[in-house]
This record gives sequence, C-alpha cells and structure tokens, in this order.
Amino acid sequence: MLSGRRGFVRIRAGEPGAVIEVEREHVLALVQTDSELSEILLRAFLLRRVELMAHGVGDVVLVGSRHAAGTLHIQEFLTRNGHPHATIDLDRDAGVPALLDRFQITVNDVPVVICRGEVVLRNPTNGQIADCLGFNAAMDHTQVRDLVIVGAGPAGLSAAVYSASEGLDALLLETHAPGGQAGASSKIENYLGFPTGISGQELATRASTQAQKFGAQLLIAKSATQLVCDRKPYAIEIDHGAHVLARAVIIATGAEYRRLALANLAQFEGVGVYYGATIVEAQVCGGEEVIVVGGGNSAGQAAVFLAQTAKRVHILIWSGGLAASMSRYLIQCIAETPMIVLRPYTVITALEGGDHLERVRWRDNQTGVSETHAIRHVFAMSGAVPNTLWLVGCIALDAHGFIKTGADLSPEELAAARWPLARAPYLLETSLPGVFAVGNVRGGNIKRVASAVGEGSIAVAFVHQVVYPYPAANSHRLKTRYNAFISLPA
Ligand SMILES: Cc1cc2nc3c(=O)[nH]c(=O)nc-3n(C[C@H](O)[C@H](O)[C@H](O)COP(=O)(O)OP(=O)(O)OC[C@H]3O[C@@H](n4cnc5c(N)ncnc54)[C@H](O)[C@@H]3O)c2cc1C
Repeated sequence: MLSGRRGFVRIRAGEPGAVIEVEREHVLALVQTDSELSEILLRAFLLRRVELMAHGVGDVVLVGSRHAAGTLHIQEFLTRNGHPHATIDLDRDAGVPALLDRFQITVNDVPVVICRGEVVLRNPTNGQIADCLGFNAAMDHTQVRDLVIVGAGPAGLSAAVYSASEGLDALLLETHAPGGQAGASSKIENYLGFPTGISGQELATRASTQAQKFGAQLLIAKSATQLVCDRKPYAIEIDHGAHVLARAVIIATGAEYRRLALANLAQFEGVGVYYGATIVEAQVCGGEEVIVVGGGNSAGQAAVFLAQTAKRVHILIWSGGLAASMSRYLIQCIAETPMIVLRPYTVITALEGGDHLERVRWRDNQTGVSETHAIRHVFAMSGAVPNTLWLVGCIALDAHGFIKTGADLSPEELAAARWPLARAPYLLETSLPGVFAVGNVRGGNIKRVASAVGEGSIAVAFVHQVVYPYPAANSHRLKTRYNAFISLPA
C-alpha cells in the first residue's frame, strides 16, 4: 500500500465483517495526518511483512546453490529489500530436477528466479529482479524534483524522511537495498532509543516505510552513474541511461570496505570472501572457522555475531590492539567470548581453493611466521573507499576521494570549482551550490548511524533554503497538501 508495489498474497477474513475500499492516495494521506490510524496500519503492515518473510510466503522462488556467489547475492538482495521468497537448494532438495524440467531450466542457468510463477529469470541482475517484481513505479523524467537523494543508507533514509515530511518532493535512488552498511549489521547497540539494540535490517525497513509514508519515492536497484552539473536544474543519470532532474541533490552514497590486496581475490568474492555479515552469510558458514579482517566496530560486531554460529572466529588486525579503533563494549564482548581469537599484527598473504575458498595463509608481521589454515570464510571489514567515482569533475574531493563540504572547502578550492554565489557554502554543502553530502561519503565523517541520520536531517534544513528560500512559498505547499487531504470523502 505504501510503496505502490503489486500485492503478492491474498487475504482471507477470519470472521464476517465489512470491507472498506480506500484508494492508495487516500491511505497515504491518512497515514500522514491521522496518527492513531497511522499507528494501527503501519504496525499491521510491518508485522505482516515480518511474518511473510519468516515463512518465505511470497511470489518468488529462488533456485540455486548456497555455495554459489550468485545465489547468495540474490538471496541477500531479496532479504534486504524485505521481499519474502522461498529458496530451493540444488544440493539438498530432491525435487529440484522435476522443477527445472517444468520450467525448461538447465543446471547451467542457475541461479534462477521464478517470478510470480510465470517469468523465469536466469542468473538475473538486481535490476531485472526489481523490474519483474515491480519494485519501482514508472518515473516521469520530465518532472523536476525538489530533491534527489542518492543512496538509501541511514543518511539517505533520514534525508528522505525529513524532506518528505516537510513537504518536499523527494526521490531516493538506491543501488542495492535500503539500509546501506547499517543494513549489514546484525545488531546496532549504540543507536539512541534502542536499549536492547536493533538489527540494521529492521532499522532500514522501519525507516523506508516511514519515508514512503510521508510520500518520498524510493527506486531500488537504480544507481546514479553521473551528475550533470553544468546545468540547472541538475540532472542525475541513472544506470547510464535516462536522467532525473533536481533542484537540489543530497549525496549519501557512503563508502565500501577496501578490497584485500590479493591477486586472486575476485575468484573467491561471494564464495568465501564476504563484505557483510548478515544472517545469509552466517547460515553459510555455521559450524566452521571464519576470519574477520579489521579492527573497527563493524568488524567487532561481525565477529561477535558470527561467534554465535561459527566454530571459531579469528580477528586479524595489522596493529597491536583494538583500543584505538573499537568501542569498549565490543572489546569487552570479544574478550568474554572464548570462540573469538584476536590475532594482532597479522595480515592475509594468500587465498587458495577452486570453486570455493579452501585455505588461507596469514603472516604475523611481528614474528615473521606464516601459517596456512583450512579456513573457508573470510569477512573483509577494514578500510573505506568512498562511492564518489560518479562525481569526479563536478565536486571537490579530498585526497582519499571523500567529498569536502562547508567550512572544509578552502577559498582556493571554491575558486577552482567556480563557486558562483556571494555566500559561503552551507554546512554539508559541497563545492556545487544546492548539492549536499552526508554520512560516510563526506570527508571527516564520524562513521556512526546516529551521525549519518543527523546529517541527513541537517542537510534537509539547508535544502529548504536552496529550493524555497521564502518561507511563505513553503507554507503554501504544505497548505495545498493539507487542503487536498481535507477534501477527501469522509
Ligand atoms: C557490519 C557493520 C556494523 C556496524 N555497526 C554500527 C553500530 O553498531 N553503530 C554505529 O553507529 N554504526 C555502525 N556501523 C557503521 C554505520 O553502519 C555507517 O556509519 C552508516 O551506515 C553510514 O551511513 P551512510 O548512509 O552514510 O552510508 P551507507 O550505510 O554506506 O549507505 C550508502 C548507500 O548508498 C548506496 N549507493 C552507493 N553508491 C550509489 C549510487 N551511485 N547510486 C545509488 N545508490 C548508491 C549504497 O548501496 C548504500 O546503500 C556499522 C557498519 C557495518 C558495516
């Protein structure tokens, strides 16, 4: 109802009652303005989705092998987008050959996604799955949006919630799934208001529901591939094709873990080397030894999470200890978990195997001793490379490729970027007027969910100054929305 996606289950009433048919626009208006109904409906929507996910009830069947990178990738895409699905494992399910025959699929075609029982997608991309399942509504490319937000991690989702709730017409683009890095976290324990912690997936689902409730449009499996910055309104190229036009832009594309500097790394990515530790990966390596590379909070959290199901977790760090890079509560947790072994001054020097990673060689740089271990799973969680390649030439970046904003931009950098205004850039504004950067993609960021969320909301306050500099104009827009709502049939 909120996202406008196609329904995929039938609902049967348990006892006699009355059905009230309400158009989607009216439901949206109701949940935005009637807090009591909004609470009942949103709670029902969220709980219903959790139940469907838990039972794999839906319109998608994934056929593949849990030892294949492609299968894991699709499973993660569906799970992180909250789309219920059933999985059939080639290696375990006796009924697979009959199913493959029925849909004329050969073993070479897997992973295969059977979409709505009708369309068979062979080794599909995220975009093909999103199109088949109707994740994205049709987009009017001539429409000029108040705001386009690129990236739906905590920073982008926060910008979407605040901008849409304050009456801006906001579009959010996301390459993969809402939640970003935080969505890969099994439990975030230090986010304000969640004393027992919250999983990244749950936080992302709640935030994207909230953004859509306020009217933000979310496009999944759509990447910004270029910012056309020599014209106004700005144009954002999507997947090297069509453009979307925007008066203001918030860049929230975050950063990715640095890839391990090993020649044959690509051979094992997804089949032994992973960049996130979600329930999907935990299931694959349950009962085995695993390696987590990195000494930050994300690595610590992954180690603690994986220790619940793995036989042993080795944390490899190049430095002597965790104190400088990890929160105290995690260090304590690691110290109290006998399954976790911390290996300081240690780096991976070789990966070996065939279709799957089989062995890892590491070296202790303090003693110079190298060892080979039959370990089949490595979680790479160190360093950060910002997702800013698509911006090169448009926006001032620092030496590591992160975006410079506000007071960090020197007069020389502004002159080089031909900053055209008499005023200095606002807080979080880049060297391009009306284009803001928030969260982990920004130089000097804090690498916390809370700071990303805070920056998303702060940037929206400045977007108002750029898009509707006169308060009266904005209040007129809000008034128009309110009038539209009160004219609904009773
Ligand atoms: C395992 C793990 C555990 C963590 N635990 C904690 C914790 O307990 N507490 C805490 O405070 N922090 C934690 N963090 C850190 C926190 O998750 C990050 O600081 C936060 O997610 C940063 O948010 P962001 O929105 O800036 O970027 P991201 O979360 O990285 O989101 C960026 C999004 O942009 C999308 N994107 C990238 N390029 C494009 C493009 N060109 N077009 C469209 N979309 C694009 C990406 O797919 C991604 O979804 C953890 C991180 C990890 C990995």
